[in-house]
Amino acid sequence: MKTAIYPGSFDPMTNGHLDIIKRALKIFDSVIVAIGENGAKSKAFSVKERVEMAKMSTQGLPVKVESYAGLLADYVKEKKISTIIRGIRAISDFDHEFQLSVINRDINPEIETVFFMTDKEYFFLSSSAVKEIAVMGGDPSPYVPEPVVSYLKKLVD
Ligand code: ADP
Repeated sequence: MKTAIYPGSFDPMTNGHLDIIKRALKIFDSVIVAIGENGAKSKAFSVKERVEMAKMSTQGLPVKVESYAGLLADYVKEKKISTIIRGIRAISDFDHEFQLSVINRDINPEIETVFFMTDKEYFFLSSSAVKEIAVMGGDPSPYVPEPVVSYLKKLVD
């Protein structure tokens, strides 16, 4: 069984994240979506909500959703899985993702990061854009898995 870990904030999970997961499942038997409890970015949703949304969005796929606290490199070691998945959209993602992968490998030389290129449809899609659409009263449903829509609606209430 080849399993890879897909870490991120998933605040919330979008169709772009789901596209990366489905691409990864062509190569890996299963994927663990690992939702960071902390991290530099401030979050709109609690870790519990982010886990719930990711679980509902990946139902029927060989995907497990977990949360982790602390360093990703430590979490990966604890899981005894050394492959990390990340998604790349624009060239601007590359710089940040390259830095992260080098740092992770510095901390734990076993770690390999595998990058998947997003579909052109999701090139400009991000969790922040989706939250902004929802907060401004727009309809986020074309951009997120169905279970995420009701969570986004709560942001406006
Ligand atoms: P983080 O805070 O770790 O960047 P995100 O949830 O924003 O967490 O992103 C997790 C991963 O998913 C990152 O590798 C990011 O580049 C990727 N990603 C986010 N949105 C998309 C998208 N629309 N298409 C492809 N990859 C994406």
